[in-house]
Amino acid sequence: MIPAPNSPDHPHLLRLPNWLGDLVLALPAVHLYQRWLNHRAPLILLGPSSLAPLAPILLPGLEYLPTPPLPLSLYPTLKNRNVASAVLFPNSIRTALETLSVPYRAGFDQKIRHPLLTDHPPRRTSPNGYLHLSDQYIGLLQDLGLPSAKAELPPPPTLSKPKDAPAQPYLAILPGAAYGPAKRWDPSSFASVIRTLQKSHSLQPVLLGGSNDRTACQAVAQALGSPITDLSGKTTTLELAHWLAHAELILCHDSGPMHLAAFLRKPAVAIFGSTEPAWTGPLGSSVSIAQHKVSCSPCFLKTCPLDHRCMTRLTPEEVLTPCLHHLTSMNKKIKYE
Ligand code: SF4
Repeated sequence: MIPAPNSPDHPHLLRLPNWLGDLVLALPAVHLYQRWLNHRAPLILLGPSSLAPLAPILLPGLEYLPTPPLPLSLYPTLKNRNVASAVLFPNSIRTALETLSVPYRAGFDQKIRHPLLTDHPPRRTSPNGYLHLSDQYIGLLQDLGLPSAKAELPPPPTLSKPKDAPAQPYLAILPGAAYGPAKRWDPSSFASVIRTLQKSHSLQPVLLGGSNDRTACQAVAQALGSPITDLSGKTTTLELAHWLAHAELILCHDSGPMHLAAFLRKPAVAIFGSTEPAWTGPLGSSVSIAQHKVSCSPCFLKTCPLDHRCMTRLTPEEVLTPCLHHLTSMNKKIKYE
């Protein structure tokens, strides 16, 4: 059981997931923990330095401590701060080493790190299939003595419009997927959807993504064959959030930006193939899922060992339908050609 908070001088710590999407899915658990502490002790959030720029919008008012390159270098830092309890959302040995100086250390059961933790309940499962990751994080806290809670996102922040954003409504397209090529849809199919939405709703397409998504964005630009703004690798993650916050519609894969869109309550269509929405799908109702079910899905592989049918069988029409649903429900006039 997590020790009861008893002093402002003995903070509690949550080790956040390393991926943006998983971090968004952990937000309901973070807020559960914050409510439970009820100002009886401060809460420190330990997470990857790459996500620190997003902390002010994802975790406003909470201390975010970026992880250093060497996990054991946190030993004196956390000891000097008298951290009383550390709960780890990731499974790794590394995160257990980071918090070794904390008297109480808990995380999901992983035999290999048992000696490094003081409490390790098994990860909760569902008898009906997949238990959503956000419920797994909440379940971990419940198994460690916290009350139950619903997996609900906190209110979205208000973000300013990027100064370079077009005046006209724009379609944000994120054709990359950091996890691997198995998650990526065909560039020509992206181009087909973009062309239709340009014609039907006069949406200006804008390609977005990190520097690792440049190739995927260039492939879509090439397939489109007409001028398109490509900002892949040109925005920080915080700037990306601002771009997403002002998009009319977002088209993406099962990815970190998909979860960011859900957090911002933005209308979005997320393409799923090799992964499972029941496990890592977006929270809330603003993101629709486009998926062509095939028997080998979900495989959770980074690269497809077959013919990539989960993606090649997903037609532009199957993606356009939820796109148009979002746009019509926003009372936009459709001009079919
Ligand atoms: S094995 Fe099936 S689900 Fe996995 S990437 Fe290939 S086609 Fe998609």
